[in-house]
Amino acid sequence: MKVLVINAGSSSLKYQLIETNDNSVIAKGLCERIGIDGKFTYKPAKGEKLDAVDRPMKDHKDAIKYVLDALVDSKNGVIKSMKEIDAVGHRIVHGGEKFAHSVKLDNEVLATIESLNDLAPLHNPANLIGVRACMEIMPNTPMVGVFDTAFHQTMPEEAYLYGVPYEDYKELMIRRYGFHGTSHLYVSGRAVAMMGKKSAEGTKVITCHLGNGSSITAVKDGKSIDTSMGFTPLEGVPMGTRTGSMDPAVVTYLMEKKNLDIKGVNTYMNKKSGMLGISGVSSDFRDLGKGAEEGNARCEVALKSFAYNVKKYIGAYAAAMNGVDAIVFTAGVGENDRGMREMILKGLDYLGVEVDFDYNMNCPRGEEVEISKKSSKVRVFVIPTDEEMVIAQDTARLAR
Ligand code: ADP
Repeated sequence: MKVLVINAGSSSLKYQLIETNDNSVIAKGLCERIGIDGKFTYKPAKGEKLDAVDRPMKDHKDAIKYVLDALVDSKNGVIKSMKEIDAVGHRIVHGGEKFAHSVKLDNEVLATIESLNDLAPLHNPANLIGVRACMEIMPNTPMVGVFDTAFHQTMPEEAYLYGVPYEDYKELMIRRYGFHGTSHLYVSGRAVAMMGKKSAEGTKVITCHLGNGSSITAVKDGKSIDTSMGFTPLEGVPMGTRTGSMDPAVVTYLMEKKNLDIKGVNTYMNKKSGMLGISGVSSDFRDLGKGAEEGNARCEVALKSFAYNVKKYIGAYAAAMNGVDAIVFTAGVGENDRGMREMILKGLDYLGVEVDFDYNMNCPRGEEVEISKKSSKVRVFVIPTDEEMVIAQDTARLAR
């Protein structure tokens, strides 16, 4: 089956065409600056990447049209006609408590997703614009929605409840939801396979999705039982530009002292804080590493703070699961930043974690590797995440 995977943001749209019979990516690319001026990239699996070209895109419908044109193009295209696309899988950020699994999209389901817009005001409306644009252009192709929150719907009540009045949980939907679910699902499943287990039953895995946004998840018996992101992706460890968890009283204090309104304090916490805020240099871990090497103390403390907070979640989740069999690192930082992995993993011997730190520094990139020693009680893996593949597989399953 050929599945087009769409990840639509407010001004961007990432796409991949995947053959689900052998999990191969046939073509992929990115539309950016939608509604501004428009940039388009396209890369067929067998062929040259089309470098970003200017293409005016007034809306997401224009963007999807360019994607389809490129896929069927007589020179660089990979399919003969749009009809060869069997289904479209859409990444949708927030499914609230309504969606614990992927779902076939129709107008009724879209209305339910829309009712959750308040929970993810930046993401869900953009995801839905992408879905509706595709539905207009491909009215007869099945569409499936895959939610970032769905994997975490197995959390028990004691893990997802906040200490707010219960009626506000019920009425206002205030609770922990968790994000990056597709990634945590994928890498925890791969870790179970790498441990040589046929089933996830009885396994305890901690997955660390560390990128620009970061979350850590406790996966017991293949199910998420707790995760560091919460009501929004702001909770948890300090991230590229997000504060992560802090005393909630800071919010009202900040609003008062800096005379910030709701929008202002949201921008402060989401865009100006985290690694960028602490270092004053950058949100990119590569820049922080360089800064620290050159003696910039604020870059160094930003990295230390990140590592310390990730380590604390590992300890917390080992306690929550009464042990841990495997720890997994994934995403931009988790897969690439060897120094950060070392900072996080040093001093976890009490848990039975023994890492081959030389191999950690020299292991190949972009592959699934094990960086723990043979004698280690807890196995440690680096596993490149593949959210698109999960979306394509779920889409194919539901569209069949
Ligand atoms: P997201 O999907 O949340 O935007 P990614 O998972 O792509 O983020 O991760 C992006 C981050 O990964 C960048 O901010 C960068 O700091 C980090 N990163 C990427 N490559 C490296 C590297 N070689 N060394 C250190 N950090 C890296």
